[in-house]
Amino acid sequence: MKEWVLPALYGYNDIGMSSGNQYWKRLWNIKAPSKMLHLLWRMSKGFVPTRYILFRHLLLQSGVCFRCGEEDETPLHAIWSCGASKNVWQQVCFYNLINHSSFGSFQDWMDFAWSKLGMGDMILLVVICWFLWYERNQTFHGSAPTPPHILLQRAIFCWEDIKASNASHDIASVTNRSAQGIWQPPPMEYYKLNADGNAKRGVGGVVRNHEGVLMGAVAKQEACDISVLATELFAIKTGLEFALDCSFFPLIVESDCLEVVSLVNMEEDCSAADGVIVSEIKSLLRQLNVSEVFYRSRECSKVAHSIAKFIVRNSGCHLLVRGRAFLAHGLY
Ligand SMILES: [Zn+2]
Repeated sequence: MKEWVLPALYGYNDIGMSSGNQYWKRLWNIKAPSKMLHLLWRMSKGFVPTRYILFRHLLLQSGVCFRCGEEDETPLHAIWSCGASKNVWQQVCFYNLINHSSFGSFQDWMDFAWSKLGMGDMILLVVICWFLWYERNQTFHGSAPTPPHILLQRAIFCWEDIKASNASHDIASVTNRSAQGIWQPPPMEYYKLNADGNAKRGVGGVVRNHEGVLMGAVAKQEACDISVLATELFAIKTGLEFALDCSFFPLIVESDCLEVVSLVNMEEDCSAADGVIVSEIKSLLRQLNVSEVFYRSRECSKVAHSIAKFIVRNSGCHLLVRGRAFLAHGLY
């Protein structure tokens, strides 16, 4: 794409001054993938085809945002102030730190964020910007908007991978391998269900809130003649029924079984032997307004796995608990 807009359009006619140099230096020092940093660089310079920039270049008759229709679509608006993006930022743990009444430009916003956040959060901010810009473009080309919590969850997974990758390249971080495979709490106001089945047909599900506090758990013993895949499917089904019963929503669902995740996220009907359970799971997901089940490593389902095991050890009793204290008595 040709660079068809002048920085001066955005008031970036002072790029050469020392504070500007400092800005670029800090930007390129963020430990995020270069494609993401390049996007931020283009955003900062106004080299992105937002509607307002196209309008200023006489390529459009109006520069108003096509999503909210309330303001000109500047880079700052597209990424930060548009309601579609704000819905995502409001769920980020550091939102209140960077929520300021007004910013003059994308650079202003970045400068302010730098003054408030550490490197780890700045990487997350860059990743979210990347996902928000991708989402903006998808919506522009007619795709249905992605629910904010799903978008944020994708960004957080990506951020975890980046952190893990950074750690593996950083000798100083070799001893601290906590970034990969650790369970992450859901965004503010959300619940997260982790479901898991074990080889002896015990199935379990655990629901925690955005602070990582256990809200409840469920487990039971399935019939002994079902397949390993069916056990994993029953684990999700049992967990979803529990979440629905206890009104644990909005909900994010994770499984450590890739096959299960593929089956339940598939749009078409499942023709496999376990298709009936898959249909039942899809129906529960619809009732809970959950559009996607996420795959996470086994490490993230440790608690659900332990519960399923506990059930098998205790002659297949059913366990249904709501609340932390109750759970503690039941398990430990
Ligand atoms: Zn807007």
